[in-house]
Amino acid sequence: MLISGNIARLEARIQKACDSAGRKRDEITLMGVSKFVPVDKIKEAFSAGIRYFGESRVKEAAEKFTAFKNEFLGARLHLIGSLQRNKAKQAALFFDCIQSADREELLFELAKHSLIRHEPLEVMLELHTGEETKSGFKDLDSLFKAAEFVLGSAGLKPAGLMTMAPYTTDTAIIRSSFRQLKKAQKELEKRFPSKENWACLSMGMSNDFEIAIEEGANLLRIGSAIFKEQE
Ligand SMILES: *Cc1c(COP(=O)(O)O)cnc(C)c1O
Repeated sequence: MLISGNIARLEARIQKACDSAGRKRDEITLMGVSKFVPVDKIKEAFSAGIRYFGESRVKEAAEKFTAFKNEFLGARLHLIGSLQRNKAKQAALFFDCIQSADREELLFELAKHSLIRHEPLEVMLELHTGEETKSGFKDLDSLFKAAEFVLGSAGLKPAGLMTMAPYTTDTAIIRSSFRQLKKAQKELEKRFPSKENWACLSMGMSNDFEIAIEEGANLLRIGSAIFKEQE
């Protein structure tokens, strides 16, 4: 079985990274990023124990997960790709969490549409920490403003912070990106001490998750290492 084998190998690497960083495996959630992955493969990952799934497009996620959600209770679905305003309503009603909340106008839309949900919509604020990608809040000031808005919105529940490191083999650049996210989390906790904390740090993908674990990640977004044939 391709996928369960991939997950077993991945788990061994995660455990090793945890050991060398002095962290516990159970502090870290492994999310399967299932964009472009067909439903039968997603089911295999679910059977192998994956409970968190990340999709980057609303339409694709709705097509694949509408049936799947009823079949596999306990699975959680997060949006991790950039979200257009005109899809905010559908996203607010369909996903358990929006990790790619990257600008205030989007948060306004999500707040408005999440009010009719049974439970608040979890959001993570995406921070721009590298040169390569465009998305994400640019600095701490804009992040604080967004955080304040989320904390004051009945339909939204703060869950954490997310970032994407630049795609590079230069580990110093990747590490610096993850450190910025950790630092932003500390600053948020200082700024809003009595409020709910932003506990989740979503960082680390197939090519850089070991560094992310060293730098404090507690949610890894892994696509190819789970779903692709490994060389
Ligand atoms: C595709 C994607 C991932 C997973 O990337 P892999 O390199 O396949 O592990 C993680 N996060 C985001 C935001 C993505 O778009």
